Amino acid sequence: MRSVRVWRALLGVEKTVVESVEFDEGDDGDGGGQLVAHVRATRTARGRCGVCRRRCGRYDAGEGRRRWRALDAGTIRVFVQADAPRVRCAEHGVVVAHVPWARHGAGHTLAFDETVAWLVTQCSKSAVTELMRIAWRTVGAIIARVWADVEALGDRLDGLRRIGIDEISYKRHHRYLTVVVDHDSGRLVWAAPGRDRATLRTFFELLGSDRCAAISHVSADQADWIAEIVAECCPAAVQCADPFHVVKWATEALDEVRRAAWNEARRSGQTRGKGYRNRVATGDARRFKTARYALWKNPDNLTERQRDKLAWIAKTNPRLHRAYLLKEGLRYVFTVKGDAGKVALDRWLSWARRCRIPAFVHLAQRITPIRGKIHATLDHGLSNALIESVNTKIRLLTRLAFGFRSAEALIALAMLSLAGHRPVLPGRPDPRISQ
Ligand SMILES: [Zn+2]
Repeated sequence: MRSVRVWRALLGVEKTVVESVEFDEGDDGDGGGQLVAHVRATRTARGRCGVCRRRCGRYDAGEGRRRWRALDAGTIRVFVQADAPRVRCAEHGVVVAHVPWARHGAGHTLAFDETVAWLVTQCSKSAVTELMRIAWRTVGAIIARVWADVEALGDRLDGLRRIGIDEISYKRHHRYLTVVVDHDSGRLVWAAPGRDRATLRTFFELLGSDRCAAISHVSADQADWIAEIVAECCPAAVQCADPFHVVKWATEALDEVRRAAWNEARRSGQTRGKGYRNRVATGDARRFKTARYALWKNPDNLTERQRDKLAWIAKTNPRLHRAYLLKEGLRYVFTVKGDAGKVALDRWLSWARRCRIPAFVHLAQRITPIRGKIHATLDHGLSNALIESVNTKIRLLTRLAFGFRSAEALIALAMLSLAGHRPVLPGRPDPRISQ
């Protein structure tokens, strides 16, 4: 009796009878052999539909015995092996029977899945794939099914008051996700593939009319389709301009000025090497090219070298330096907030209109019509820092998710990491339950 419990614990399985365990010397790719545990589901867990788990009659033996990868024991791989008969469910037809140690259709045990989901929110891509000895694509498939189970547990949309809506590009900008962030908790609330009216409407339908009515503020970039759907679904909500995007526009305008300075220096011959491709920027051209980060970063985060670079820019290219000050001026508006922010915004607008730098004159024209929405942001003190950090994290995740096959895997990665539903390691108490 005792050894059965030990084996269950070692394999990380429940409702499972361990019949025998053998050591298979066969090559597993690492030359270490593997442990194979022959198991069957306990009587109560047997003869159930793999999809809905309702009891149903056996159909046939399916494809016979099969293996599921379990957590390693020490340095060797472990597999669970069992029959995988098919059953006939009144609702789902002929399907492979439910097994208590793995998700339906999965090739890994539940404990293996949970461990991968926990690791992916804690360490690097290479740490996960090397430790677990699986491909990154497999990681994507695993976290997608783990997240699907978390989602099935119930509604996570209660208590939303102030939300931010954003579109995030992935797969080298060919595909988009629409994401919703909670301004009060800084958590990612919802994400779905697509960026259009229908996608966003799905979110508000999920929220339902009562909770839509409780939404007091919605911030977004200035896409018309977002404003339209928000006005339709949450007519009472104040629409605000997302500071994150407004500051991003300023950064883009600044970059336009920097590129012009760089090209000018290049044209004046500050390059070496033959041909178009091999040409290397030298002197000022090189310095403008590498000044990007010094210009983008918040002044508080500059390294000493970047500070020197800024001082050099102030001396050699006053126009680029002015563009830098304009970018910082707009950021300042959102730092001071409230009435002081509004005054700063008006001062900034009149400065930008007269600055004679086309990129910023254009930016002033773009910002003037949404002045009201920016005022709403400043009045209600929506924290840019919180949203900016969530946005930055999601964008980093989209890069990390590059090898995943589906948008679901990317969404799972984002939700598991940023939605306040961090996975728990198998066999450990769930800290969320005691709360
Ligand atoms: Zn069923």
